[in-house]
Amino acid sequence: MHLLMKVVAYSIKPFEKEFLAKANRKKHEITLIANPLSLETIAYAEGKNAVVVFANDDVSAPVVNKLADMGIKYIATRSAGTDHFDKEAAAERGISLANVPVYSSHAIAEHAVALALSLNRHIIAAHEHGQQFDFKLNGLIGFNFFGKTVGLIGLGRIGQAIAAIYNGFGCRVIGYDIAMPDGLIAIESLSLNEVLRQSDIISLHLPLTPATKYIINAASIAIMKNGVMLINTSRGGLLNTIDALEALEQGKIGYLGMDVYEHEKGLFFEDHQQDLIKDSLLQKLMTHANVMVTPHQAFLTGEALQQMADETIKNLDVWQKDRFVLSEII
Ligand code: NAD
Repeated sequence: MHLLMKVVAYSIKPFEKEFLAKANRKKHEITLIANPLSLETIAYAEGKNAVVVFANDDVSAPVVNKLADMGIKYIATRSAGTDHFDKEAAAERGISLANVPVYSSHAIAEHAVALALSLNRHIIAAHEHGQQFDFKLNGLIGFNFFGKTVGLIGLGRIGQAIAAIYNGFGCRVIGYDIAMPDGLIAIESLSLNEVLRQSDIISLHLPLTPATKYIINAASIAIMKNGVMLINTSRGGLLNTIDALEALEQGKIGYLGMDVYEHEKGLFFEDHQQDLIKDSLLQKLMTHANVMVTPHQAFLTGEALQQMADETIKNLDVWQKDRFVLSEII
């Protein structure tokens, strides 16, 4: 018989509740908090055994240390990405960490392709014009994906799922990964520079680490084809946004699709229409008709949300049984 696990889950959106309830089936006592974890909201963790967070929560050293002082032993994120964790601080304070490494790679792959297709065929502009009964075709010319070269940077689960989609369009799919996985199907593996040089569409599918921070910057953009389409559904920090803006203004980048933004923390997932001061870099980017920004929603399918909830509860189950969690991060 195991003692009930007392958990506080941060950054819970109303639509997530049913998925968590279905996964939990009242096994753990979970307090749901709408706000993200931060030093301001940390008091909700008082008296709990575990904390559940999401991708933009503050899990930096000061927060981890405070949680450790409060007796927290476990932190689980409902995201795949773990770049928000201060892993050293957690290890020093004996806090176990877990993530959800796989939860429907197809959800993210499909969203990345949706961004690419929408940008290419000017779907938003066509729809907005049509709503005003303006059915002119001016400015709506796209290009065939068939026969184009798609470069995938990162060939893990999402990279491979997206390769299958682009193969279906009749694209040539090339890719780069630091640890080229075995058994790649219909992906030509090349060096990073060759992928940058040869691609008409570049799609990023890497974790954010010190090695991948700003992997796309002025120097790497200079190698790309003029008018290249760049899609980032991974983490904002992979792209130097200022460099990307400059390349857009020069016409070097022809299309930019972003589901993530390097300064998205505290911005994405909430309504900021009434804010007097808005993020000026993002505002500048969004003045460009060939830029499309979605608010870190690539994961947002019913299937993925259920998997995220199920896997998070499984991590709590394992901790409850006082064993090591399989997906534990060192
Ligand atoms: P994965 O671990 O299966 O694949 C990542 C790949 O990147 C691996 O093959 C790895 O070898 C490669 N890699 C790591 N460091 C590299 C480097 N320095 N240079 C080249 N290759 C490197 O991960 P995944 O499931 O494909 O997810 C990729 C990323 O997508 C996640 O880390 C996360 O940040 C992001 N993501 C975003 C959303 C969203 O909603 N927008 C949802 C889930 C995941």
